Amino acid sequence: MKYDYLVVGAGLYGAVFAHEAKKAGKSVLVIDKRTNIAGNVYTEAVEGIQVHKYGAHIFHTNNRKVWEYVNQFAEFNRFTNSPVANYNGELYSLPFNMYTFNKMWGVVTPEEAAAKIEEQRKEAGILEPKNLEEQAISLVGRDIYEKLIKGYTEKQWGRPCKELPAFIIKRLPVRLTFDNNYFNALFQGIPIGGYTKMVANMLEGIEVKLNEDYLVSKDKWDAMADKIVYTGAIDSYFGYKLGTLEYRSVRFETELLDIPNFQGNAAVNYTDEKTPWTRIIEHKWFEFGRDADDQDLPKTVISKEFSSEWKPGDEPYYPVNDEKNGMLYEDYRKLADQETKVIFGGRLGEYKYYDMDAVIASALDMCERELI
Ligand code: UDP
Repeated sequence: MKYDYLVVGAGLYGAVFAHEAKKAGKSVLVIDKRTNIAGNVYTEAVEGIQVHKYGAHIFHTNNRKVWEYVNQFAEFNRFTNSPVANYNGELYSLPFNMYTFNKMWGVVTPEEAAAKIEEQRKEAGILEPKNLEEQAISLVGRDIYEKLIKGYTEKQWGRPCKELPAFIIKRLPVRLTFDNNYFNALFQGIPIGGYTKMVANMLEGIEVKLNEDYLVSKDKWDAMADKIVYTGAIDSYFGYKLGTLEYRSVRFETELLDIPNFQGNAAVNYTDEKTPWTRIIEHKWFEFGRDADDQDLPKTVISKEFSSEWKPGDEPYYPVNDEKNGMLYEDYRKLADQETKVIFGGRLGEYKYYDMDAVIASALDMCERELI
């Protein structure tokens, strides 16, 4: 049988495309080299707790269309992300807000906080921030940069802040209010029952083959469909022939603990440079409304997250969207444009530090252009 579309990768981009293609009356086969669907949003239950196996995913968006779209496939809880930063045992609120400024400087009013930031910005003499360090100091001043940004960022990206693009730090809000919500998003939450169930609902009625590596038998798969939707890494598609794009990989050390409450929050970031992990996730707190003295759940699952430079064989997680990689990506993009049978999409296919909502928006855009 020849399919209209072969979708390579059962993550969000692939699942949205497959769902829409089927709805448009197309025949679709989805394959994935892993033994599970859902890509890096995959969750699995451990002792009744949904564990985010490939790192914490908190759905947030300002895009109403995307929010309504995902709500077809899952009911979302009202979890609000509010990580805590641990700098050598000192705890600070994130994102940067009045609680953070009060703890850091003892300031009480927004005016005092603004004055403190302005004073440190002036001292640094930065007019136009050219890299992450300059951007961070001009947003929140040197003290916060030193304690809450520098160590975390250099562990996360494995590069000095001076060599990283400024946009990465602009993901975080800076507020002169007492608001600990990490995201400036109208809609936020986590699918009740986990992301895997949500993606399974997207893929309902669609043929999915797991444990199948497209690139290993590319010719065989290509012969099976008129078009391919490829959501793997763009450089791997081309056998790295122009060189490798840089990615950060992540390793998790996950433990089941015989205590009900390890850290009292879903995410604690370790922002000093010495602690080897970047953050610890305590998965049960993503499930909004769960109580620490819940007798049915006396245990907890935590994951320590370690960041490393990607090398062949590792899972790529974060594209390093700096200038050098941007130029190489553009060269790959030109090759991709010549592949008329293949659509490249998703965080890896487009080499872009996409959030989940942006991946879905990008997939829906593609569907509109492709499935007419
Ligand atoms: N960041 C930081 N300190 C923190 C949290 C984040 O300096 O405590 C910086 C860091 O450079 C990070 C970026 O902000 O890569 C974006 O953080 P975000 O939480 O959005 O990263 P993600 O959850 O995608 O890993």
